[in-house]
Amino acid sequence: MTRKTPLLVGLTGGIGSGKSTVAKIFSILGIAIYYADDRAKWLMAYDVELKNQILTHFGDKSYTEDGKLNRSYLAETVFSNEEKVKTINSLVHPAVKKDFEKWAAQQISPYVLKEAALLFETGSFKDLDKTINVSAPLKIRITRVLLRDPHRTEKQVNDIIDKQIPDEEKNQRADYVIKNADNKLLIPQVLQIHRELLGQQA
Ligand code: ATP
Repeated sequence: MTRKTPLLVGLTGGIGSGKSTVAKIFSILGIAIYYADDRAKWLMAYDVELKNQILTHFGDKSYTEDGKLNRSYLAETVFSNEEKVKTINSLVHPAVKKDFEKWAAQQISPYVLKEAALLFETGSFKDLDKTINVSAPLKIRITRVLLRDPHRTEKQVNDIIDKQIPDEEKNQRADYVIKNADNKLLIPQVLQIHRELLGQQA
């Protein structure tokens, strides 16, 4: 018996838009969620092939003697340099794509969600059947993030926002938009999209 591949749906949104909150609602509906940013960190730490590629490009110091990812070294030498960020992304993104596809093929939910902050920026939307953007006004997003992450400054949050595609553009590019301003209820919006996606299984 051949099993149907679930529909692959991307869930994105700028920092503080409420992606994780929305993902939790889909999860309660029984939908499997792949958290791409967490999984990328896991793969960098444990995937042998990716680890070897990182070692080849960035040297032995990329991992500590006990084999753990040397985050402070990478932060200093890689994540501060635009070209090196491009290089590390060119290693990590294909690894995440492969891992996501393998994971998706094992799921039994009618569609699966790939939750990722940078879906349009990285081009990974091209491998998905549908996309959802969680949208919220900039001021609300900054306030939410500063409340959630007291260690962050407003400047740090704005620096992250500057590296993300503006909300308006993502709203136009996405198949579905969930509005997460203070006056909008999330659950009815999620239910509406859920119903539509159930009608569109591959
Ligand atoms: P990041 O990109 O930083 O991971 P995110 O898009 O996943 O952010 P969440 O973590 O879901 O965003 O939401 C940011 C914060 O705002 C959280 O503390 C969350 O509880 C809160 N939040 C999300 N939606 C709402 C809402 N509608 N009303 C009030 N608080 C909200």
